[in-house]
Amino acid sequence: QLQNVGFIGLGNMGSRMANNLVKAGYKLTVYDLNSDALKKFSQMGVSTKKTPYEVSEASDVVITMLPSSAHVIDVYTGPNGLLHGGKLLRPWLLIDSSTIDPQTSRNLSATISNYNLKEKKGDQETPVKLDAPVSGSVIAAEAGTLTFMVGGPEEAFLAAKSLFLSMGKSAIYCGGAGSGSAAKLCNNLALAVSMLGVSEALALGQSLGVAASTLTKIFNCSSARCWSSDAYNPVPGVMEGVPSSRDYNGGFASKLMAKDLNLALESAKQAGCKYPLTSQAQKIYTELCSDGHEASDFSCAFRHYYSGLDE
Ligand code: NAD
Repeated sequence: QLQNVGFIGLGNMGSRMANNLVKAGYKLTVYDLNSDALKKFSQMGVSTKKTPYEVSEASDVVITMLPSSAHVIDVYTGPNGLLHGGKLLRPWLLIDSSTIDPQTSRNLSATISNYNLKEKKGDQETPVKLDAPVSGSVIAAEAGTLTFMVGGPEEAFLAAKSLFLSMGKSAIYCGGAGSGSAAKLCNNLALAVSMLGVSEALALGQSLGVAASTLTKIFNCSSARCWSSDAYNPVPGVMEGVPSSRDYNGGFASKLMAKDLNLALESAKQAGCKYPLTSQAQKIYTELCSDGHEASDFSCAFRHYYSGLDE
């Protein structure tokens, strides 16, 4: 029932996720604003389209993997968007894997639950949407080892589980619409802070005469161990195959981390509580972007703040 999969957003993450769906035997139809990204897929024999609406014509399920809320709203409700013409053409399931704010996720789900399908498929007439952001880097997207955190109707989650497991190693149901997006913001807040903590500690170690590689070995079998130290180390030369080993190219752009921290800060304000580390991390990543590093991987915070190489 979910053999025909539409995929929109073929960037660092989406291109790899879509590739894993092709490998798993799904019939894909793809779209991206970037014609180079599309070309790579058409060269692999994958069907490419000129608008999201055309993708919806060919798909039972459409997955979006876009930078931010504004892009997702545009792909869903903009001209020639998935909901163009007031009725969804065909897909009965819409999965948004972009990291966006929980409120936008909930609003889109509410909008979609008011739509009927133009063509009925079996007894399915009301389409459903899941928010299903992912954790894991570009490396995990490539290896098919992402973690999906999913909000929306539980039956839809169960129906989509094999799709998730073709792109990831786990899929965790979080609750109603927007709860996947909420879980993702919390995950990235912890990540942003842990990356800064590891960077600062490794920098202090270096100034005290302990090499970052030695300190990393210690962290990784001690209580400071975390993903930022053992899988995505920010210090050049400590680990191979991570952005710090290639001048912080590729990976998870600082501007995306700044975006996620803005969303976390906004949610924190709405919750009416003080979250001092959220504010501090948001300031640091925003500054990193305004200093010209918005496209570099977020682990470049190490170079920017601590290694003195930026001067
Ligand atoms: P990216 O910028 O590399 O890719 C986004 C793609 O969307 C681009 O190819 C762009 O051309 C396309 N796009 C933008 N607007 C579009 C539109 N209106 N129609 C069609 N295509 C459009 O971003 P990414 O790193 O792949 O991240 C995507 C999402 O995943 C973000 O929300 C990000 O926060 C999240 N994420 C990223 C990582 C990571 O390590 N990069 C990890 C987990 C989650």
